[in-house]
Amino acid sequence: MSVFHLKYRPSKISELDLAEVSDKLTKILKSKDMPQSWLLAGPKGSGKTSAARILAKAVNCLNPVGVEPCDKCKNCQEIARGNSLDIIEIDGASNRGVDDIRNLKESAYLSSINLKKKVIIIDEVHMLTREAFNALLKVLEEPPKNLFFILCTTDDNKIPETVLSRLCQIRFVKGDKDSLKKSLDKIILGEKIKIEEAAIELLLEKSDGSFRNLQRNFNEIFLQIGTKIGLKDVVDYLAKNGEYEGEDLEEDLMTENAEIILGKLEKMAKDGINFSNLRERWLGYFQTKLLGFYGIGNKNDDGLDLLQTKKIIELLIEAGRVEKLTEISQLPLEMVVVDFLGKKDETSNFKLPASPAGRQTSIKKEEIKIEEKKVETVVTGNVEDIAKKWGEVLVAVKPFNHSVEALLRAARPLSMSKNKIVLEVFYKFHKERLEEAKNKEIVLKGLEKVLGKKVEFKCVSTESKKNNFQTDKFQTSEKKEEEIFV
Ligand SMILES: [Zn+2]
Repeated sequence: MSVFHLKYRPSKISELDLAEVSDKLTKILKSKDMPQSWLLAGPKGSGKTSAARILAKAVNCLNPVGVEPCDKCKNCQEIARGNSLDIIEIDGASNRGVDDIRNLKESAYLSSINLKKKVIIIDEVHMLTREAFNALLKVLEEPPKNLFFILCTTDDNKIPETVLSRLCQIRFVKGDKDSLKKSLDKIILGEKIKIEEAAIELLLEKSDGSFRNLQRNFNEIFLQIGTKIGLKDVVDYLAKNGEYEGEDLEEDLMTENAEIILGKLEKMAKDGINFSNLRERWLGYFQTKLLGFYGIGNKNDDGLDLLQTKKIIELLIEAGRVEKLTEISQLPLEMVVVDFLGKKDETSNFKLPASPAGRQTSIKKEEIKIEEKKVETVVTGNVEDIAKKWGEVLVAVKPFNHSVEALLRAARPLSMSKNKIVLEVFYKFHKERLEEAKNKEIVLKGLEKVLGKKVEFKCVSTESKKNNFQTDKFQTSEKKEEEIFV
Protein backbone atom coordinates (compact mmCIF):
# COMPACT_ATOMS: atom_id res chain seq x y z
CA MET A 1 0.00 0.00 0.00
CA SER A 2 1.44 3.34 -0.94
CA VAL A 3 2.21 6.10 1.50
CA PHE A 4 -0.01 8.51 -0.43
CA HIS A 5 -2.84 6.04 -0.33
CA LEU A 6 -2.74 6.05 3.46
CA LYS A 7 -2.03 9.75 3.90
CA TYR A 8 -4.62 11.01 1.45
CA ARG A 9 -7.28 8.42 2.03
CA PRO A 10 -10.63 10.16 2.41
CA SER A 11 -11.66 10.30 6.07
CA LYS A 12 -15.10 11.87 5.66
CA ILE A 13 -18.09 11.14 3.51
CA SER A 14 -17.73 14.44 1.67
CA GLU A 15 -14.11 13.55 0.83
CA LEU A 16 -14.96 10.35 -1.02
CA ASP A 17 -13.64 10.37 -4.58
CA LEU A 18 -16.99 9.62 -6.20
CA ALA A 19 -19.42 12.51 -5.69
CA GLU A 20 -22.51 10.38 -6.36
CA VAL A 21 -21.45 7.93 -3.66
CA SER A 22 -21.00 10.67 -1.04
CA ASP A 23 -24.37 12.17 -2.00
CA LYS A 24 -26.16 8.87 -1.68
CA LEU A 25 -24.49 7.97 1.61
CA THR A 26 -25.28 11.39 3.07
CA LYS A 27 -28.92 11.05 2.10
CA ILE A 28 -29.24 7.59 3.65
CA LEU A 29 -27.42 8.56 6.86
CA LYS A 30 -29.76 11.53 7.26
CA SER A 31 -32.85 9.37 7.00
CA LYS A 32 -34.41 7.99 10.16
CA ASP A 33 -34.20 4.34 9.14
CA MET A 34 -30.52 3.74 9.03
CA PRO A 35 -29.94 0.37 7.33
CA GLN A 36 -27.76 -2.11 9.19
CA SER A 37 -26.78 -4.32 6.25
CA TRP A 38 -24.96 -2.70 3.34
CA LEU A 39 -23.46 -3.72 0.05
CA LEU A 40 -20.74 -1.60 -1.55
CA ALA A 41 -20.32 -2.86 -5.11
CA GLY A 42 -17.99 -1.71 -7.85
CA PRO A 43 -14.60 -2.05 -9.51
CA LYS A 44 -11.30 -2.40 -7.71
CA GLY A 45 -9.70 0.78 -6.45
CA SER A 46 -12.94 2.76 -6.58
CA GLY A 47 -12.98 3.51 -2.85
CA LYS A 48 -15.23 0.83 -1.33
CA THR A 49 -12.96 -0.01 1.60
CA SER A 50 -12.42 3.65 2.44
CA ALA A 51 -16.18 4.20 2.38
CA ALA A 52 -16.73 1.17 4.63
CA ARG A 53 -14.32 2.57 7.24
CA ILE A 54 -15.90 6.01 7.08
CA LEU A 55 -19.32 4.43 7.60
CA ALA A 56 -17.92 2.60 10.64
CA LYS A 57 -16.78 5.94 12.04
CA ALA A 58 -20.02 7.68 11.18
CA VAL A 59 -22.12 5.23 13.19
CA ASN A 60 -19.72 5.32 16.13
CA CYS A 61 -18.66 8.97 16.33
CA LEU A 62 -19.30 10.65 19.69
CA ASN A 63 -19.51 14.18 18.21
CA PRO A 64 -20.76 13.84 14.66
CA VAL A 65 -21.06 16.98 12.55
CA GLY A 66 -24.30 16.37 10.70
CA VAL A 67 -23.73 12.89 9.26
CA GLU A 68 -19.95 13.28 9.18
CA PRO A 69 -17.66 11.65 11.74
CA CYS A 70 -15.62 14.25 13.67
CA ASP A 71 -12.38 12.30 13.23
CA LYS A 72 -11.24 13.56 16.66
CA CYS A 73 -13.21 11.69 19.31
CA LYS A 74 -11.78 8.55 20.86
CA ASN A 75 -14.06 6.30 18.79
CA CYS A 76 -13.08 7.92 15.49
CA GLN A 77 -9.42 7.71 16.49
CA GLU A 78 -9.68 4.08 17.48
CA ILE A 79 -11.21 3.20 14.12
CA ALA A 80 -8.70 5.33 12.21
CA ARG A 81 -5.82 3.49 13.89
CA GLY A 82 -7.26 0.31 12.41
CA ASN A 83 -6.93 -1.77 15.56
CA SER A 84 -10.42 -1.61 17.02
CA LEU A 85 -11.69 -4.94 18.27
CA ASP A 86 -15.22 -3.92 17.33
CA ILE A 87 -14.47 -3.43 13.65
CA ILE A 88 -14.05 -6.89 12.16
CA GLU A 89 -12.67 -6.99 8.65
CA ILE A 90 -12.49 -10.33 6.86
CA ASP A 91 -11.61 -11.29 3.33
CA GLY A 92 -14.34 -13.34 1.68
CA ALA A 93 -11.85 -14.93 -0.69
CA SER A 94 -9.91 -16.68 2.07
CA ASN A 95 -12.82 -17.14 4.52
CA ARG A 96 -15.40 -18.41 2.14
CA GLY A 97 -16.74 -21.54 3.81
CA VAL A 98 -19.82 -22.05 5.93
CA ASP A 99 -17.69 -22.65 9.05
CA ASP A 100 -15.94 -19.30 8.59
CA ILE A 101 -19.30 -17.59 8.45
CA ARG A 102 -20.62 -19.50 11.48
CA ASN A 103 -17.60 -18.33 13.48
CA LEU A 104 -18.21 -14.80 12.31
CA LYS A 105 -21.87 -15.02 13.32
CA GLU A 106 -20.91 -16.17 16.81
CA SER A 107 -18.84 -13.06 17.32
CA ALA A 108 -21.60 -10.98 15.70
CA TYR A 109 -23.96 -11.77 18.57
CA LEU A 110 -21.45 -10.68 21.23
CA SER A 111 -21.83 -7.05 22.18
CA SER A 112 -19.18 -4.49 21.26
CA ILE A 113 -16.20 -3.89 23.55
CA ASN A 114 -15.24 -0.20 23.26
CA LEU A 115 -17.37 1.29 20.53
CA LYS A 116 -21.11 1.99 20.39
CA LYS A 117 -21.62 -0.24 17.39
CA LYS A 118 -19.90 -3.28 16.09
CA VAL A 119 -19.13 -3.29 12.36
CA ILE A 120 -18.37 -6.40 10.30
CA ILE A 121 -16.79 -5.71 6.92
CA ILE A 122 -16.57 -8.63 4.46
CA ASP A 123 -14.41 -7.82 1.48
CA GLU A 124 -14.82 -9.73 -1.83
CA VAL A 125 -18.02 -11.18 -0.43
CA HIS A 126 -18.99 -12.76 -3.78
CA MET A 127 -16.35 -15.42 -3.10
CA LEU A 128 -18.44 -16.99 -0.32
CA THR A 129 -19.87 -20.43 -0.99
CA ARG A 130 -23.61 -20.86 -1.42
CA GLU A 131 -23.85 -22.51 2.02
CA ALA A 132 -21.94 -19.63 3.57
CA PHE A 133 -24.36 -17.14 2.00
CA ASN A 134 -27.28 -19.16 3.35
CA ALA A 135 -25.72 -19.07 6.80
CA LEU A 136 -25.52 -15.27 6.54
CA LEU A 137 -29.09 -14.69 5.37
CA LYS A 138 -30.86 -14.51 8.68
CA VAL A 139 -28.37 -12.32 10.50
CA LEU A 140 -28.34 -9.94 7.53
CA GLU A 141 -32.08 -9.67 7.65
CA GLU A 142 -32.32 -9.19 11.40
CA PRO A 143 -28.95 -8.11 12.70
CA PRO A 144 -28.55 -7.67 16.48
CA LYS A 145 -29.34 -4.12 17.53
CA ASN A 146 -25.86 -2.64 17.55
CA LEU A 147 -24.37 -4.52 14.64
CA PHE A 148 -23.65 -3.28 11.13
CA PHE A 149 -22.70 -5.44 8.18
CA ILE A 150 -20.81 -3.86 5.29
CA LEU A 151 -20.27 -6.27 2.42
CA CYS A 152 -17.93 -5.22 -0.38
CA THR A 153 -17.68 -6.80 -3.80
CA THR A 154 -16.26 -6.32 -7.26
CA ASP A 155 -18.80 -8.74 -8.71
CA ASP A 156 -22.33 -8.47 -7.34
CA ASN A 157 -23.64 -10.77 -10.10
CA LYS A 158 -22.26 -13.65 -8.07
CA ILE A 159 -24.25 -12.75 -4.97
CA PRO A 160 -27.54 -14.67 -4.58
CA GLU A 161 -30.67 -12.62 -5.10
CA THR A 162 -31.95 -13.64 -1.64
CA VAL A 163 -28.91 -11.93 -0.11
CA LEU A 164 -28.98 -8.87 -2.37
CA SER A 165 -32.58 -8.14 -1.50
CA ARG A 166 -31.65 -7.76 2.17
CA LEU A 167 -28.93 -5.17 1.58
CA CYS A 168 -28.80 -1.43 1.14
CA GLN A 169 -26.82 -1.21 -2.08
CA ILE A 170 -24.35 1.52 -2.95
CA ARG A 171 -22.87 1.41 -6.41
CA PHE A 172 -19.28 2.47 -7.10
CA VAL A 173 -18.00 3.14 -10.60
CA LYS A 174 -14.62 3.71 -12.22
CA GLY A 175 -13.40 7.25 -11.73
CA ASP A 176 -13.96 9.63 -14.61
CA LYS A 177 -11.23 12.04 -15.61
CA ASP A 178 -12.46 14.89 -13.42
CA SER A 179 -12.79 12.88 -10.24
CA LEU A 180 -9.45 11.17 -10.83
CA LYS A 181 -7.80 14.52 -11.36
CA LYS A 182 -9.37 15.91 -8.23
CA SER A 183 -7.98 13.07 -6.15
CA LEU A 184 -4.52 13.52 -7.68
CA ASP A 185 -4.61 17.30 -7.17
CA LYS A 186 -5.04 16.74 -3.44
CA ILE A 187 -1.68 14.99 -3.31
CA ILE A 188 0.05 17.39 -5.70
CA LEU A 189 -0.99 20.37 -3.56
CA GLY A 190 -0.38 18.60 -0.27
CA GLU A 191 3.14 17.53 -1.19
CA LYS A 192 3.95 20.75 -3.15
CA ILE A 193 4.84 18.74 -6.26
CA LYS A 194 5.59 20.36 -9.60
CA ILE A 195 4.35 18.19 -12.43
CA GLU A 196 3.85 18.80 -16.15
CA GLU A 197 0.23 18.87 -17.29
CA ALA A 198 0.94 16.21 -19.96
CA ALA A 199 2.38 13.95 -17.27
CA ILE A 200 -0.86 14.25 -15.30
CA GLU A 201 -2.88 13.47 -18.41
CA LEU A 202 -0.87 10.31 -19.07
CA LEU A 203 -1.18 9.15 -15.46
CA LEU A 204 -4.95 9.63 -15.56
CA GLU A 205 -5.18 7.74 -18.81
CA LYS A 206 -3.15 4.81 -17.50
CA SER A 207 -5.01 4.51 -14.20
CA ASP A 208 -7.85 2.59 -15.82
CA GLY A 209 -10.31 4.56 -13.74
CA SER A 210 -8.89 3.25 -10.49
CA PHE A 211 -8.09 5.81 -7.79
CA ARG A 212 -5.82 3.27 -6.15
CA ASN A 213 -3.81 2.60 -9.34
CA LEU A 214 -3.45 6.31 -9.87
CA GLN A 215 -2.18 6.96 -6.37
CA ARG A 216 0.10 3.95 -6.39
CA ASN A 217 1.73 4.92 -9.69
CA PHE A 218 2.08 8.51 -8.61
CA ASN A 219 3.55 7.48 -5.28
CA GLU A 220 6.15 5.29 -6.99
CA ILE A 221 7.15 8.03 -9.43
CA PHE A 222 7.38 10.53 -6.57
CA LEU A 223 9.65 8.16 -4.61
CA GLN A 224 11.93 7.70 -7.63
CA ILE A 225 11.94 11.24 -9.03
CA GLY A 226 11.07 13.65 -6.24
CA THR A 227 8.95 16.79 -6.31
CA LYS A 228 9.62 17.82 -9.95
CA ILE A 229 7.98 15.39 -12.35
CA GLY A 230 8.04 15.65 -16.15
CA LEU A 231 6.26 13.75 -18.88
CA LYS A 232 9.39 11.74 -19.61
CA ASP A 233 9.56 10.51 -16.01
CA VAL A 234 6.04 9.13 -16.27
CA VAL A 235 6.68 7.57 -19.69
CA ASP A 236 9.86 5.91 -18.39
CA TYR A 237 8.12 4.65 -15.28
CA LEU A 238 5.22 3.16 -17.21
CA ALA A 239 7.56 1.57 -19.76
CA LYS A 240 9.47 -0.12 -16.98
CA ASN A 241 6.35 -1.25 -15.21
CA GLY A 242 4.68 -3.83 -17.29
CA GLU A 243 3.39 -2.04 -20.33
CA TYR A 244 2.63 -5.49 -21.68
CA GLU A 245 -0.73 -4.78 -23.21
CA GLY A 246 -3.36 -7.13 -24.60
CA GLU A 247 -2.17 -6.38 -28.11
CA ASP A 248 1.39 -7.48 -27.25
CA LEU A 249 0.07 -10.61 -25.56
CA GLU A 250 -2.01 -11.48 -28.61
CA GLU A 251 1.03 -11.11 -30.84
CA ASP A 252 3.04 -13.39 -28.56
CA LEU A 253 0.22 -15.93 -28.37
CA MET A 254 0.16 -16.08 -32.16
CA THR A 255 3.78 -17.22 -32.18
CA GLU A 256 2.60 -20.13 -29.98
CA ASN A 257 5.73 -19.72 -27.96
CA ALA A 258 4.82 -20.01 -24.31
CA GLU A 259 8.40 -19.59 -23.14
CA ILE A 260 8.48 -15.99 -24.39
CA ILE A 261 5.34 -15.00 -22.50
CA LEU A 262 6.20 -16.92 -19.34
CA GLY A 263 9.66 -15.36 -19.39
CA LYS A 264 8.13 -11.87 -19.60
CA LEU A 265 5.72 -12.62 -16.74
CA GLU A 266 8.51 -13.94 -14.54
CA LYS A 267 10.55 -10.84 -15.21
CA MET A 268 7.58 -8.62 -14.43
CA ALA A 269 7.10 -10.52 -11.18
CA LYS A 270 10.63 -9.55 -10.18
CA ASP A 271 9.80 -5.92 -10.97
CA GLY A 272 6.84 -6.12 -8.61
CA ILE A 273 4.08 -5.68 -11.21
CA ASN A 274 0.46 -5.69 -10.18
CA PHE A 275 -0.81 -8.73 -12.08
CA SER A 276 -4.38 -8.09 -11.13
CA ASN A 277 -4.32 -4.80 -13.05
CA LEU A 278 -2.53 -6.45 -15.93
CA ARG A 279 -5.21 -9.16 -16.11
CA GLU A 280 -7.97 -6.55 -16.14
CA ARG A 281 -6.30 -4.65 -18.98
CA TRP A 282 -5.90 -7.85 -20.99
CA LEU A 283 -9.50 -8.77 -20.33
CA GLY A 284 -10.63 -5.33 -21.51
CA TYR A 285 -8.59 -5.67 -24.68
CA PHE A 286 -10.02 -9.08 -25.58
CA GLN A 287 -13.56 -8.07 -24.72
CA THR A 288 -13.30 -5.19 -27.18
CA LYS A 289 -11.95 -7.60 -29.75
CA LEU A 290 -14.78 -10.06 -29.10
CA LEU A 291 -17.42 -7.39 -29.64
CA GLY A 292 -15.67 -6.45 -32.87
CA PHE A 293 -16.50 -9.88 -34.27
CA TYR A 294 -20.19 -8.99 -33.85
CA GLY A 295 -19.88 -5.64 -35.53
CA ILE A 296 -19.73 -3.63 -32.32
CA GLY A 297 -16.81 -1.24 -32.47
CA ASN A 298 -13.88 -1.96 -34.76
CA LYS A 299 -13.39 -5.40 -36.16
CA ASN A 300 -9.81 -6.52 -35.75
CA ASP A 301 -9.08 -9.36 -38.15
CA ASP A 302 -5.47 -9.83 -37.18
CA GLY A 303 -4.47 -12.24 -34.50
CA LEU A 304 -6.78 -14.58 -32.61
CA ASP A 305 -10.03 -15.74 -34.21
CA LEU A 306 -13.42 -15.66 -32.53
CA LEU A 307 -13.13 -19.02 -30.76
CA GLN A 308 -9.62 -18.30 -29.57
CA THR A 309 -10.71 -14.89 -28.30
CA LYS A 310 -13.58 -16.49 -26.41
CA LYS A 311 -11.18 -19.06 -24.95
CA ILE A 312 -8.66 -16.49 -23.72
CA ILE A 313 -11.45 -14.44 -22.14
CA GLU A 314 -12.73 -17.51 -20.27
CA LEU A 315 -9.24 -18.29 -19.04
CA LEU A 316 -8.63 -14.70 -17.92
CA ILE A 317 -11.93 -14.68 -16.00
CA GLU A 318 -10.95 -17.93 -14.30
CA ALA A 319 -7.55 -16.43 -13.46
CA GLY A 320 -9.38 -13.57 -11.75
CA ARG A 321 -11.38 -16.00 -9.70
CA VAL A 322 -8.30 -17.68 -8.25
CA GLU A 323 -5.97 -14.69 -8.03
CA LYS A 324 -6.79 -13.90 -4.41
CA LEU A 325 -6.27 -17.52 -3.44
CA THR A 326 -2.86 -17.79 -5.02
CA GLU A 327 0.30 -16.87 -3.18
CA ILE A 328 2.31 -16.52 -6.39
CA SER A 329 0.83 -13.45 -7.99
CA GLN A 330 1.92 -14.15 -11.56
CA LEU A 331 0.82 -17.80 -11.51
CA PRO A 332 -2.84 -17.33 -12.56
CA LEU A 333 -1.71 -15.52 -15.72
CA GLU A 334 0.96 -18.11 -16.37
CA MET A 335 -1.72 -20.79 -16.17
CA VAL A 336 -3.77 -18.84 -18.72
CA VAL A 337 -0.85 -19.02 -21.13
CA VAL A 338 -0.17 -22.69 -20.41
CA ASP A 339 -3.84 -23.63 -20.77
CA PHE A 340 -4.34 -21.59 -23.90
CA LEU A 341 -1.31 -22.77 -25.83
CA GLY A 342 -1.51 -26.26 -24.39
CA LYS A 343 -4.83 -26.81 -26.06
CA LYS A 344 -3.64 -26.33 -29.59
CA ASP A 345 -3.96 -29.26 -32.00
CA GLU A 346 -1.19 -31.66 -32.84
CA THR A 347 0.33 -29.43 -35.48
CA SER A 348 1.17 -26.87 -32.85
CA ASN A 349 4.80 -26.24 -32.03
CA PHE A 350 3.90 -26.26 -28.41
CA LYS A 351 4.64 -29.28 -26.29
CA LEU A 352 2.90 -29.74 -23.02
CA PRO A 353 2.05 -32.77 -20.97
CA ALA A 354 -1.71 -32.98 -21.24
CA SER A 355 -4.24 -35.02 -19.32
CA PRO A 356 -3.12 -38.46 -18.28
CA ALA A 357 -5.04 -40.00 -21.16
CA GLY A 358 -3.57 -38.01 -24.02
CA ARG A 359 -0.96 -35.46 -24.89
CA GLN A 360 -0.33 -32.78 -27.42
CA THR A 361 3.02 -32.49 -29.04
CA SER A 362 4.50 -31.16 -32.20
CA ILE A 363 5.72 -34.57 -33.27
CA LYS A 364 4.18 -36.18 -36.32
CA LYS A 365 1.17 -38.44 -36.14
CA GLU A 366 3.09 -41.68 -36.75
CA GLU A 367 5.37 -40.83 -33.89
CA ILE A 368 2.43 -40.22 -31.63
CA LYS A 369 1.18 -43.70 -32.39
CA ILE A 370 4.52 -45.19 -31.47
CA GLU A 371 4.56 -43.18 -28.33
CA GLU A 372 1.11 -44.36 -27.30
CA LYS A 373 2.23 -47.95 -27.75
CA LYS A 374 5.14 -47.26 -25.47
CA VAL A 375 2.80 -45.91 -22.87
CA GLU A 376 0.86 -49.14 -22.93
CA THR A 377 3.87 -51.33 -22.58
CA VAL A 378 5.90 -49.40 -20.10
CA VAL A 379 3.49 -48.01 -17.54
CA THR A 380 2.43 -50.36 -14.81
CA GLY A 381 -1.05 -50.90 -13.47
CA ASN A 382 -0.17 -48.70 -10.55
CA VAL A 383 0.48 -45.57 -12.49
CA GLU A 384 -2.67 -46.07 -14.51
CA ASP A 385 -4.60 -46.26 -11.27
CA ILE A 386 -3.20 -42.92 -10.21
CA ALA A 387 -3.84 -41.47 -13.64
CA LYS A 388 -7.48 -42.52 -13.38
CA LYS A 389 -7.72 -40.99 -9.94
CA TRP A 390 -5.88 -37.81 -10.90
CA GLY A 391 -9.12 -35.85 -10.83
CA GLU A 392 -9.70 -36.99 -7.25
CA VAL A 393 -6.20 -35.89 -6.30
CA LEU A 394 -6.97 -32.43 -7.70
CA VAL A 395 -10.20 -32.29 -5.70
CA ALA A 396 -8.38 -33.38 -2.53
CA VAL A 397 -5.71 -30.72 -2.92
CA LYS A 398 -7.85 -27.78 -4.01
CA PRO A 399 -9.27 -26.80 -0.60
CA PHE A 400 -5.73 -26.49 0.76
CA ASN A 401 -4.24 -24.47 -2.03
CA HIS A 402 -5.64 -23.50 -5.42
CA SER A 403 -2.28 -22.77 -6.98
CA VAL A 404 -1.00 -26.24 -6.09
CA GLU A 405 -4.12 -27.67 -7.68
CA ALA A 406 -3.46 -25.61 -10.80
CA LEU A 407 0.10 -26.88 -10.92
CA LEU A 408 -1.05 -30.49 -10.56
CA ARG A 409 -3.61 -29.98 -13.29
CA ALA A 410 -0.74 -29.36 -15.68
CA ALA A 411 1.19 -32.38 -14.38
CA ARG A 412 0.70 -36.06 -15.00
CA PRO A 413 1.82 -39.19 -13.22
CA LEU A 414 4.56 -40.77 -15.28
CA SER A 415 5.52 -43.84 -13.32
CA MET A 416 5.18 -45.51 -9.99
CA SER A 417 7.22 -48.15 -8.27
CA LYS A 418 6.57 -49.24 -4.69
CA ASN A 419 5.57 -45.97 -3.05
CA LYS A 420 7.51 -43.64 -5.31
CA ILE A 421 5.61 -41.61 -7.90
CA VAL A 422 7.22 -39.61 -10.67
CA LEU A 423 5.20 -36.68 -11.96
CA GLU A 424 5.88 -35.13 -15.29
CA VAL A 425 5.61 -31.36 -15.63
CA PHE A 426 6.58 -29.25 -18.59
CA TYR A 427 8.17 -26.26 -16.96
CA LYS A 428 11.14 -26.31 -14.64
CA PHE A 429 9.53 -23.65 -12.47
CA HIS A 430 6.46 -25.87 -12.02
CA LYS A 431 8.76 -28.59 -10.71
CA GLU A 432 10.41 -26.12 -8.36
CA ARG A 433 7.09 -24.84 -7.07
CA LEU A 434 5.64 -28.31 -6.52
CA GLU A 435 8.74 -29.40 -4.67
CA GLU A 436 8.75 -26.45 -2.27
CA ALA A 437 8.29 -27.89 1.21
CA LYS A 438 4.94 -26.20 1.86
CA ASN A 439 3.43 -27.25 -1.47
CA LYS A 440 4.95 -30.70 -1.33
CA GLU A 441 3.21 -31.38 1.93
CA ILE A 442 -0.15 -30.50 0.37
CA VAL A 443 0.46 -32.77 -2.63
CA LEU A 444 1.48 -35.63 -0.34
CA LYS A 445 -1.64 -35.16 1.74
CA GLY A 446 -3.81 -35.26 -1.40
CA LEU A 447 -2.07 -38.36 -2.75
CA GLU A 448 -2.36 -40.14 0.57
CA LYS A 449 -6.03 -39.33 0.82
CA VAL A 450 -6.82 -40.71 -2.62
CA LEU A 451 -4.42 -43.66 -2.69
CA GLY A 452 -4.99 -44.65 0.92
CA LYS A 453 -1.27 -44.93 1.67
CA LYS A 454 1.75 -42.76 2.24
CA VAL A 455 3.78 -42.15 -0.91
CA GLU A 456 6.69 -40.05 -2.06
CA PHE A 457 6.85 -38.06 -5.25
CA LYS A 458 9.34 -36.30 -7.43
CA CYS A 459 8.82 -34.17 -10.50
CA VAL A 460 10.64 -34.34 -13.77
CA SER A 461 10.47 -31.40 -16.11
CA THR A 462 10.36 -32.02 -19.84
CA GLU A 463 11.26 -28.44 -20.65
CA SER A 464 14.99 -29.08 -20.84
CA LYS A 465 14.71 -32.06 -23.13
CA LYS A 466 11.92 -30.96 -25.39
CA ASN A 467 14.07 -31.40 -28.47
CA ASN A 468 14.25 -35.14 -28.04
CA PHE A 469 10.83 -35.25 -26.49
CA GLN A 470 9.61 -38.63 -27.64
CA THR A 471 12.81 -40.62 -27.63
CA ASP A 472 13.54 -41.24 -24.00
CA LYS A 473 10.29 -40.09 -22.48
CA PHE A 474 8.84 -43.33 -21.27
CA GLN A 475 11.90 -45.31 -20.47
CA THR A 476 11.76 -44.75 -16.79
CA SER A 477 13.62 -47.82 -15.73
CA GLU A 478 14.20 -48.59 -12.09
CA LYS A 479 17.65 -47.14 -12.47
CA LYS A 480 16.32 -43.87 -13.81
CA GLU A 481 13.83 -43.63 -11.01
CA GLU A 482 16.56 -44.16 -8.49
CA GLU A 483 18.47 -41.30 -10.03
CA ILE A 484 15.40 -39.15 -9.74
CA PHE A 485 14.91 -40.05 -6.12
CA VAL A 486 18.50 -39.50 -5.01
ZN1 LIG B 1 -15.85 11.23 16.11
